[in-house]
Amino acid sequence: MRKISIFGATGSIGQSTIDLIARAPQDYQVVALSGGKNIAQLAEDAKKLGAQIAVTAEQSLLDDLRLALAGTGIEVAAGRAALLEAADRPCDWAMSAIVGAAGLEPGLRAMQAGAHLALANKESMVCAGPLMLRTARSRGVDLLPVDSEHSAVFQALMGEDISAVERVIITASGGAFRDWPLQELARATPSQAATHPNWDMGQRITIDSASMFNKALELIETKEFFDFKPEQIETVVHPESMIHALVGFNDGGFMAHVGPADMRHAIGFALHHPTRKKLPVERLDLVKLGQFTFRDPCETRWPALRLAREVMQAGGLMGAVFNASKEIALDAFIAEQIGFTDMAAVVEQVLTRLSSHSGHNPDAISLDMVLEADHLARHEAAQVIADLS
Ligand code: NAD
Ligand code: MG
Repeated sequence: MRKISIFGATGSIGQSTIDLIARAPQDYQVVALSGGKNIAQLAEDAKKLGAQIAVTAEQSLLDDLRLALAGTGIEVAAGRAALLEAADRPCDWAMSAIVGAAGLEPGLRAMQAGAHLALANKESMVCAGPLMLRTARSRGVDLLPVDSEHSAVFQALMGEDISAVERVIITASGGAFRDWPLQELARATPSQAATHPNWDMGQRITIDSASMFNKALELIETKEFFDFKPEQIETVVHPESMIHALVGFNDGGFMAHVGPADMRHAIGFALHHPTRKKLPVERLDLVKLGQFTFRDPCETRWPALRLAREVMQAGGLMGAVFNASKEIALDAFIAEQIGFTDMAAVVEQVLTRLSSHSGHNPDAISLDMVLEADHLARHEAAQVIADLS
């Protein structure tokens, strides 16, 4: 029996993880499940999986959670400190699937406690890549990418000589607005942006797909995870979302990873690593699919891609600045305070204001430095937004 914990259990990735675990309950002992406002889901899953502890990030919902789990013997807790305490509980494998920079510390703490970490929370690598890798190395645990593109690169690199890699291409669906006329983007609403053509995901990542901020984060995540140079990392729009990434070698060949748009593939790969096990995902019918198409990732339509290249070049704490200002700009867009195209403008201004956060020695980057840069960038972004509106 493997001991596992799932942080962000009530979200889209968390629920897909639970779907896989619940198919073989005899193989797992669930230590901690964490969620946010959806207490009914958290309680139902904690009961179904026989978790040791259920934690909600919302302090005010502790009584609701206690009531929902009364008489079950499952421990309950609430708030940030309780979440971090739950991450300190030893387990063999943990899923990091909280959305945003809030997912960084629980993942780090789980690795420090000895867990192999399945990382859906791409923000951890964007904000603190060197710290994540250093922690995994010093604790002797695996850090396994769950983002579909990064799982694809990881799989394409298995058994390969990394020095023979010339380029890596991360594919992008193009999101909700890939076919919209450019001049209409400024008027796009949050509900229009939150509809994805191929993937069923949380609201925030779906809007980030429409703006390509999600792909921008993923380009930075690629650099941090695999230590490629920024100029080796490319993206291409691939509307079918079947090829997740391609690794190009010095002999001119590509290794491409192809699979259905179902996150249970990448989650299952990380869950069973280093073995491969049968997974309940669709088997592709290539003839029925007919064709794979590719389009230019236009930086006029998606300025986030240009910003990502600048952030990769700048290095240091600029990833943390980029992510935090993006999170605040996204909040403001969801609250209809700013328009869709204002998000990139806000992030660009914050990057300019905090450009002194570039160029640190990766080995010297600490959690405190990351949290401070994150805090400062949120403050600056709020000011830029206030000036706009
Ligand atoms: P989601 O919004 O569906 O779920 C987020 C989870 O995090 C929920 O359980 C929520 O309660 C919890 N949460 C939110 N804010 C929190 C906070 N401040 N403190 C503690 N918990 C909090 O998100 P998702 O789509 O499942 O994405 C999760 C992560 O995985 C993100 O980093 C996302 O970029 C990444 N990811 C998602 C997908 C996908 O298909 N959904 C694919 C690749 C990567
Ligand atoms: Mg992805």
